[in-house]
Amino acid sequence: MRPRQWMFLVVVCLCMLAANVRAQAGNDPTINGGKGTAAPITWDGFSLTFVSNYDKLTAPIAQGLIERLKLTIGPECEYFNPDCPRQLTMIVQATMPCADKNGKEAPACAGPGATPGTGEMHIDGKRLVSGWNDYDMVTHEAMHIVQSYPFDRLEICWWWQEGEADLGRYWYGSTNEESGWYLPQPNESVPYTEGYTYTAAFLNWIYNNWTDEPIYALHRALQAGQCPAANIWQASTGFATIDALWLGYLANNPTPPNGGGEVGEPPGPGGPGEEPTCPADDPYCEEEEPQCPADDPYCEDEEDEEDEEDE
Ligand SMILES: [Zn+2]
Repeated sequence: MRPRQWMFLVVVCLCMLAANVRAQAGNDPTINGGKGTAAPITWDGFSLTFVSNYDKLTAPIAQGLIERLKLTIGPECEYFNPDCPRQLTMIVQATMPCADKNGKEAPACAGPGATPGTGEMHIDGKRLVSGWNDYDMVTHEAMHIVQSYPFDRLEICWWWQEGEADLGRYWYGSTNEESGWYLPQPNESVPYTEGYTYTAAFLNWIYNNWTDEPIYALHRALQAGQCPAANIWQASTGFATIDALWLGYLANNPTPPNGGGEVGEPPGPGGPGEEPTCPADDPYCEEEEPQCPADDPYCEDEEDEEDEEDE
């Protein structure tokens, strides 16, 4: 062989070698679009494996999804669950592995992974490519990873986990308005059990009136795999039941009826908001709380204890 033939062969071999290396490394969908796995992405203690199984995914959409996740999951974890999973996988695909409550293919879904400390998000690529660029759905789905609830035990009160996920979207999303996404006004014909934005609007009203405690009380119950009991609302808002609280929301009135009573406390003497009085014919009954005479301005009723609970 002459030298020029050697050169030709070397060039051909190098090209084949380069093609082979590229095939092994795979395509990076955040650079080239299409199917493939992106180079590992890390930030603030999180790591993300981004996978596209959808050949029509574009690089800008892939980057948009990743950027939104980076922006929102950290604050969501900080508020709701500092021990949230931090090894994340986001998969864009054409056929979704999850359905919505009506049995239709869901646009996205997420939750804890099989291994502790991991979380997975699945996103329908077809909708994104067809112009459905609602990136804050990532903010909603990230909440499900943050929640990491035992979801299979919470199906009978599913609206709380979806309402809380939309509460997180409302708080931490950055393009909700542009996407035409908003929380609805109170509406008596759409109960809080409707889930999603309806439950989120209710929760946001609760937060605006009582701040963190009722939100955390709900979160703790769901984390333990329990639908919230009546007493968590009573303790954190003064409303005896969730339905009474819902009526307060509809009327935009955060004052419980009768000043709020103990759950299950019977009406009548000693009941919510009433002064205890003894029946006239009961000689063994004792008045427990001394009352001040109406004409004594220096006498102090001992009612402060009750008031403290409201602060
Ligand atoms: Zn959801």
